[in-house]
Amino acid sequence: MQTVRAARLISAYGRLLTLDALRSTLDEARARLKADPQAAAPENEFILSESESHLAAWTQPTLQPVINATGVILHTNLGRAPLSKATIAAMSEAAQNYSNLEFDLETGKRGSRLIHAEDILKKLLGVAAAVVVNNNASAVLLVLSALASKKRVVIARSQLIEIGGGFRVPDVMKQSGAKLVEVGTTNKVRLSDYKDELADAALVMHAHRSNFKMIGFTEEPELIKIVDVAHKAGVIVVDDLGSGALLDTAKYGLVHEPTVQESLAAGVDVICFSGDKLLGGPQAGIIVGKAELIAKIKKHPLARAVRADKTCLAGITATLLHYLKDEAEREIPIWKMISAPLAEVKARAEKWARELEAGSVPALSRVEVSANEATVGGGSLPGESFPSYVLSLSVKSPDKFLRRLRQQNPPVIARTGNDKILFDPRTVFLEQDQLLLSALHSLLSELK
Ligand SMILES: *Cc1c(COP(=O)(O)O)cnc(C)c1O
Repeated sequence: MQTVRAARLISAYGRLLTLDALRSTLDEARARLKADPQAAAPENEFILSESESHLAAWTQPTLQPVINATGVILHTNLGRAPLSKATIAAMSEAAQNYSNLEFDLETGKRGSRLIHAEDILKKLLGVAAAVVVNNNASAVLLVLSALASKKRVVIARSQLIEIGGGFRVPDVMKQSGAKLVEVGTTNKVRLSDYKDELADAALVMHAHRSNFKMIGFTEEPELIKIVDVAHKAGVIVVDDLGSGALLDTAKYGLVHEPTVQESLAAGVDVICFSGDKLLGGPQAGIIVGKAELIAKIKKHPLARAVRADKTCLAGITATLLHYLKDEAEREIPIWKMISAPLAEVKARAEKWARELEAGSVPALSRVEVSANEATVGGGSLPGESFPSYVLSLSVKSPDKFLRRLRQQNPPVIARTGNDKILFDPRTVFLEQDQLLLSALHSLLSELK
C-alpha cells in the first residue's frame, strides 16, 4: 500500500523532489522527537501524507487565478485586462507552433517581427507606421531615447506625473538622455509658456494624467493648439496617452477618456499607449505615428531590448481585429463589463443572494443586494465610477472574512464598504458564479 503510494508520488513529482520531501518530513519528525522524547514515532502513513503536502506546496505556482469581485475592471494588481477568446486562441497558437515571426514566406529569407501588428494598426487607425513593444513604459523610454536623446524636451509642469510602480515621467525622460524643460506651473499652463521654450527644443511631450485629476483654478491649452505652435517652430509632439482608449467611454455613462483617434486628429506625431488598459489586450506598448519617426524608433538599439514576444504580437493583433470588425463591445471582456446593462448586474447579484439564502445563511450574517459603484481603474478615469449593484454581506469581522476569502481556491478578492463585504458581479465571469457561491457557502457555514 505504502510502496504504491510512494511510487505514485515519484511519478507525479519526480524522484529527486519526492526524496527531498521525504527527507524534510523526516527531519521535522526527528526535531519533534528531540523536543519531546515521550512523543510517539510517526507512522509511515503520516510521513507519506506530510511529504505529499510538501510536494503540493512546493509545486504550486505563486501566480494563480483569482476571482475579482471588486468591481474594478482594470485592476493593475489583479493583472489588468482579461483577454477575449480569439486573443487567447491566437496567443496559444503562436506559443504551440513555429511561425513566420521573422521569416518572409515570399522570399524565404529573414523577415521582421515588427511588421506583424503594424498592418492592422495602419488599417485601423490610418497611421503611416506602428511598432509594438513590451509595455507602454518601455514605449515612452524608447521613443524619447530615439527622438530626443541629448536634446531639449518641453513638458508642462502639470504633466510631470507618476503613474505608479515607480514610473515617473520626469525620471523616464532623464533616463532617455533628454533634457527636461518644464513649462508653466502645476495648475496653470498657457500656450505662451510653450512658445517661450520652443526655439531650441526637439520635442514636446504631452502626457495623459491618467490616475488623478485636477479641479479648480486650472488651465491647459488644447492638444491641437500645442501641436500647432510646436509644428510652426519645427518641433515634433509625442503624446503618452496611457490607457489608449479606442472607443468613447462617454457612450457608457463615463467621463470621456482621450482616444488615440483624437490625438491623431490633433496632429500629434507619435502616440504611445498600453495594450492591457482600455484596449483590453495583452501587456504591450503600442507606438503609432509618422513613418520617418517610427523608422528611427525601430532602428534604435533599445528597440531590441524592449521588443514584444510572439505571443504578445499574436494577441495584440487578435484584440485589434475586434475593433476593426466593430465587435469590441461584444468580444473584449473589459468592454463587455463596462457595457453590461445595470439590470443584468442587479439580476446576478439577486441570484447570488437567493442561492446563499437557500443555503441558510447564519443569523449573524445578513445578505443584501444594493446599488453601488464600479470603477474602470488601470490608470484611467480617476475618481470616476459608474452605477453597479453589489451583493453585500454583514459579518462580524469583515477583515477576517476577507482574509478567509483570499484563502479559497481560487482566492476571492472582494472589497468592504460601510463595514460590509461587497461583491460586484460586473467583474466576475458567469462561469465563476458557482465557484464564488461555493466559497461563500463554505465560509458562512464556518460561522455557524
Ligand atoms: C499606464 C501608463 C504608462 C505605463 O504603461 P504600462 O503599459 O503599464 O507600462 C505610461 N504612461 C501613462 C500616462 C500611463 O497611464
